[in-house]
Amino acid sequence: MSYEDLVRKVEPYTAGEQPKDASVIKLNTNECPYPPSPAVTVAIRELEDKSERLRLYPDMDASMLVGALADRYHVDPDEIFVGVGSDDVLSMSFLTFFTAGKKLLFPDITYSFYDVWADLYRIDYTAVPLKDDFTIDPLDYIPAAEGGRLEQTAGIGDISGLGGIVFPNPNAPTGAELPLSSIESIVRANPGVVVIVDEAYVDFGAQSALQLTKKYKNLLIVQTFSKSRAMAGLRVGFAMGNRKLIRYLKDVKFSFNSYTMNLPSLLIGTAAVRDEAYFRKTTQRIIETRERFKKDLTQLGFVYPDSKTNFVFARHPDVHAKVLFAKLRERKIIVRYFDKPRINEYLRITIGTDGQMKAVTEALRDILAGAV
Ligand code: PMP
Repeated sequence: MSYEDLVRKVEPYTAGEQPKDASVIKLNTNECPYPPSPAVTVAIRELEDKSERLRLYPDMDASMLVGALADRYHVDPDEIFVGVGSDDVLSMSFLTFFTAGKKLLFPDITYSFYDVWADLYRIDYTAVPLKDDFTIDPLDYIPAAEGGRLEQTAGIGDISGLGGIVFPNPNAPTGAELPLSSIESIVRANPGVVVIVDEAYVDFGAQSALQLTKKYKNLLIVQTFSKSRAMAGLRVGFAMGNRKLIRYLKDVKFSFNSYTMNLPSLLIGTAAVRDEAYFRKTTQRIIETRERFKKDLTQLGFVYPDSKTNFVFARHPDVHAKVLFAKLRERKIIVRYFDKPRINEYLRITIGTDGQMKAVTEALRDILAGAV
């Protein structure tokens, strides 16, 4: 026997590339083009005077950050869980709420970390095909007894075979939003499992399902500081939901690593949450740029699902995305291309500054002129 037989073998998630060359226009990982709030810079400066505190373990309850989030989202601190980016929060949630032998459902085109966590934790799952227009059909997630076809979609004999549901809203990488009423119908029809709504991109004009957590005990909302708060580098994410769900999450987390949130993250993260005006200004700016960019894309002949995020998922009928991706790259513009069934004709383009999007539009116009 070899130790190889004992190894937990997994196919890891492939993150978007982080180029070393600072001169590229980087629109491949949905980061914010603007800096974090000035309050963050102040908090970082103040950290220097607090370096002595690094001697001690940080507050394992992350009370300051949790308190700031509780104020901001009008929920109780017991209804919030924080982690090292929403990837950490989602990973903990998969481990806590989903299990082997029961089917977890998520869309076939979605955040490509879901199947990686499911494989890692040995959770069975079914990837449910999105409709042709890349939207979720709620009936796929609603049991037959409630008028849907969940059992058929999931390939389970009866509803006791269901283990959970997770999807981003708006979805990634499509950018499409599922209306709140559809989310409610899915959550209401499945009281026996936890439904996770991954709201990584919700702050760019979509409607959050947070209000539904007051009504449904099986709903967990996950958000991040990486996009709308411009702090992908800090690594802070959080979940909000019924206090019992949060308690279960904390129990698993404290069985794994008590000190996930370090002192700088707690101090800097809190400063960011407290600056609501800056948050609103930045997200609004990105929304405006996105709307302008969508018009430019349409003018160039691109088609795309309507995006409520800080990216657009677009296809050109005449030139393949793989070609566009390579040609943009030659011009030092990096976007995201997924060589996967159903989506290999699309580019996912992050919304940057107005100047960056102008450069992308010009480059695409140039490439298309040469190619068609
Ligand atoms: N959910 C979705 C849908 C995402 O696209 C991302 C970003 N890759 C994440 C979660 C994780 O983001 P983070 O860990 O930076 O919070």
